[in-house]
Amino acid sequence: MEKREQIYEGKAKKVYATDDPDLLIVSYKDDATAFNGLKKGTITGKGVINNRMSNALMKKLEEAGIPTHFVEELSERETLVRRVAIVPLEVIVRNISAGSFSKRYGVPEGIVFDEPTVEFSYKNDALGDPLINDSHALALGLATKEEIETIKDYALRVDRELRQIWAERGVTLVDFKLEFGRLPDGKIILADEISPDTCRLWDTETGKKLDKDRFRRDLGGVEEAYAEIMERLGARDY
Ligand code: C5P
Repeated sequence: MEKREQIYEGKAKKVYATDDPDLLIVSYKDDATAFNGLKKGTITGKGVINNRMSNALMKKLEEAGIPTHFVEELSERETLVRRVAIVPLEVIVRNISAGSFSKRYGVPEGIVFDEPTVEFSYKNDALGDPLINDSHALALGLATKEEIETIKDYALRVDRELRQIWAERGVTLVDFKLEFGRLPDGKIILADEISPDTCRLWDTETGKKLDKDRFRRDLGGVEEAYAEIMERLGARDY
């Protein structure tokens, strides 16, 4: 596999072409941003942890029958993935109230829902990734009805699998964000990453936040929290 030119640089990752048009290399950075890029910083070692964690979790999801873009971990920061056209929806699943849900609806963090919620944001930095409903996503041509159903179904299956994985490790999965992509044949697969940048993970016993909220909210111990959550997932998993 030959690494070719950089084709994209995002807030936390760079993406490179390869000599195979169907495959890309993702390289994870230590750069951290929050609040649509307003807050910037570095979390030393984050790129290595997010790469390894995302790969370990995607492998487990594949085993559970959920198709993902993961192909092969190339190094501690780089992974070979399948090239997709990203569906411009951030798919957010919540098991417990927190973050923008608590703010929007004026409820405290920590309310455990009877059923998980699924919501979409329109992936558009200029607009600040606004909340969007199914019919608006359809009207804007962001996805078809069938794709939206498939995405919701996969998102809830991912939630069931991840909740179980983390529960076995003494961690509560509060909420998370997924992105999906289309293969050239139209098939929908899970893309992007699953990491402490994109999930809220609380220690089940103490409630300690082991995710990017430590950076967003200046709680301190950011690097330590990332290291701890990686440790919880366990060396045997990557
Ligand atoms: O901020 P909010 O409460 O909507 O975030 C819900 C979940 O989605 C959190 O786990 C957060 O880390 C993730 N998220 C993300 N990228 C965004 C927005 C939210 O990973 N742009």
